[in-house]
Amino acid sequence: MKNHTSFKIGGPADIMVFPQDLQDLENLLHVADEEKVSLFILGKGTNILVKDGGIRGIVVNLQRFDKIMIESEDENGETIVFAEAGVNLSRFLNFAVSHGLAGLEFAAGIPGSVGGAIVMNAGSFDGEIKDAIKQIRMMDLSGNVIEIDREDIRFGYRTARLPKGIILGGSFVLHKDSNKKIKDKMIALIGRRKEKQPIGVPSAGSVFKNPATGFAGALIESVGLKGYRIGDAELSKKHANFIVNKGRAVAKDVISLIEIIKEKVKKEKGVALKLEIKIVGKD
Ligand SMILES: Cc1cc2nc3c(=O)[nH]c(=O)nc-3n(C[C@H](O)[C@H](O)[C@H](O)COP(=O)(O)OP(=O)(O)OC[C@H]3O[C@@H](n4cnc5c(N)ncnc54)[C@H](O)[C@@H]3O)c2cc1C
Repeated sequence: MKNHTSFKIGGPADIMVFPQDLQDLENLLHVADEEKVSLFILGKGTNILVKDGGIRGIVVNLQRFDKIMIESEDENGETIVFAEAGVNLSRFLNFAVSHGLAGLEFAAGIPGSVGGAIVMNAGSFDGEIKDAIKQIRMMDLSGNVIEIDREDIRFGYRTARLPKGIILGGSFVLHKDSNKKIKDKMIALIGRRKEKQPIGVPSAGSVFKNPATGFAGALIESVGLKGYRIGDAELSKKHANFIVNKGRAVAKDVISLIEIIKEKVKKEKGVALKLEIKIVGKD
């Protein structure tokens, strides 16, 4: 799995499948049910830490669900665009810029897929998926395709409460604006990110959610852990809420580092940090 995660960490999966249409997915769900094999749905692997023992069962890689379609456009410039789950978020943003469609700028610089972004309600200080989504299309565990309106989904801070199943894609409400204005906003957001975050180094983004009282990074820095390292897992010197893989880090190192951070921040600051990344797989 280290070849399928932005952390470049993770043991092997038993099986990885690359379904190409709804029939493939439906068959897969039936086989998994009959054979009692578990499924793990993978986006682009930018928010997960896969343990060193890897993932038992089947990893479902949705990279072939990669279409973007304009569904409707009204006289006021409101445009509904459907993006399949495996679409790279950055490709979706490029599509929006080239069609002069505003509404996704907040996501500039967030890696991952459309499906992963929906599950995580991905966002920045400037907005979240919940602000742009209109409807989600899913396949439930029986193989039925269902559509869920935004109003019926409870979004939270990096969470979306959804039925069990596979997200197939989402319809987004965008609106016509000048390409230049949209692009300039995205460039500014990416620039801001580059200044503050270790971009281009293997990581899974922010490890912890920001607590109600402030920033997780500032808390971690205040207990003196910025730059702390176990093996090749290091608390970034640039941003204390990022753990970076300096080369050959393994999940065990990252998990030990996470435990130390949680313990020290709790003891010295009285704050119980909660994980934003998802730890999956077996030791
Ligand atoms: C450098 C860096 C910066 C980042 N900055 C941000 C940021 O500013 N804001 C932010 O919100 N996040 C940020 N992240 C985290 C990450 O990019 C987002 O959470 C992203 O939306 C995850 O998408 P993914 O496709 O990689 O999901 P994955 O990591 O592959 O999966 C995440 C979860 O979603 C589930 N999942 C994925 N696709 C589907 C699907 N189709 N159906 C059902 N379940 C699915 C997976 O099973 C898993 O539980 C950053 C990460 C990095 C590496």
